[in-house]
Amino acid sequence: MRAFEATRRFFHTAAEHLDLNAQAREAMLMASREVRVQVSIERDDGSLATFVGFRVQHDNSRGPMKGGLRYHPEVNLDETRSLASLMTWKTAVVNLPYGGAKGGIGVDPRSLSQREMERLTRVFVDQIHDIVGPDTDIPAPDMGTDHRVMAWFRNQWEKYHGFNPAVITGKPVEEYGAKGREEATGRGVGTLTVKLTKRLGMKPEATSIAIQGFGNVGSHAAKFLSEAQFPVIAISDITGTYYRKEGLDIAAALHHKLQHPYGLLEGFTECEVLPTDALLTLPNVDILIPAALGGVITEKNAKQISAKAIIEAANGPVDPDADRILHDHGVTILPDILANAGGVTVSYFEWVQNRQHYRWTLDRVRQELDRTLSEAFEHVWQNAHERDLSLRTAAYMIGITRVRRASELAGLT
Ligand code: GLU
Repeated sequence: MRAFEATRRFFHTAAEHLDLNAQAREAMLMASREVRVQVSIERDDGSLATFVGFRVQHDNSRGPMKGGLRYHPEVNLDETRSLASLMTWKTAVVNLPYGGAKGGIGVDPRSLSQREMERLTRVFVDQIHDIVGPDTDIPAPDMGTDHRVMAWFRNQWEKYHGFNPAVITGKPVEEYGAKGREEATGRGVGTLTVKLTKRLGMKPEATSIAIQGFGNVGSHAAKFLSEAQFPVIAISDITGTYYRKEGLDIAAALHHKLQHPYGLLEGFTECEVLPTDALLTLPNVDILIPAALGGVITEKNAKQISAKAIIEAANGPVDPDADRILHDHGVTILPDILANAGGVTVSYFEWVQNRQHYRWTLDRVRQELDRTLSEAFEHVWQNAHERDLSLRTAAYMIGITRVRRASELAGLT
């Protein structure tokens, strides 16, 4: 199923419960602006390489639009559109004063040198600089991009518009970045996993965890959860699934990641090594955390999943057909628009600090992150239980209601 179709279907399920008419639904689904640009660079060997870049700005009823930049070979307009609308519901669920956007370039960042990545980013900024800004649309890291890309982006944007670090978040800490931004998405996933397992009556020591993806999000979630005494029995990346029934040594895996090219786990020992796609359907997993690409759990593999709960650390990992099957099997799903909202929440803290020219301590960032996510979790949990809905439908209903209320107050409807 295509990515936007999946988000559309989740939206419609919630819209049904809200009695939204067809006209209102159409207006809320359609992106406000979609931009597609050519990104051509000179490679280090002097040859020319051309890529396609996107920025989709979905909605700004609640504030400036916000969302990451993804560098990945599968980036396309449909996926970017889907991810942009997820950002609108996500910022609304955690009640940040933002709308939603997303962008990216269809490129494999591993095929580029550092200098080529820099040129690519600068050319992309040349193409889109006039539609982004601290009060209009604020990019951030996503898959394939990091603090270095954010620093190049800011530097290039400021050549046109002057000093204004709040144009982008996820910057290096010493260059107007926020302490705790890098860990934030994974930490948020960990915090919410602890909350959910408490509600489900599961004890940390007796709750096994499998995490698909050991990038920024997966690795920080693994660290947080193993420190919270959960046995993390499996982790994976493109080189394989690393499995140990009694729980992996996550500190050792993190160390391995730091020492190896592209942070890959290849060569990590003292555990069984299985094929990459074995992770999702491993037996005896209590909590499954997909923290990689979207669309990985479909009706083809949903029935083989042993977990009692799924925490969507990635955006859109479970498609609507799989969602229904898992729901019928009693699997609790913590939806992406809540589960991975820690990243954009600390992005908001970064933006606030930039605008106030004031720096928060790491403790303050963590405390406010915890408070923001806890409030959102309680709100979604209460709504779901009062009306006997899934957590996803409850979260979408809260997001949609807030966006709709903002546009009503502005007098647009
Ligand atoms: N790319 C992240 C997300 O999907 C973070 C976005 C942001 O910080 O603006 O939520």
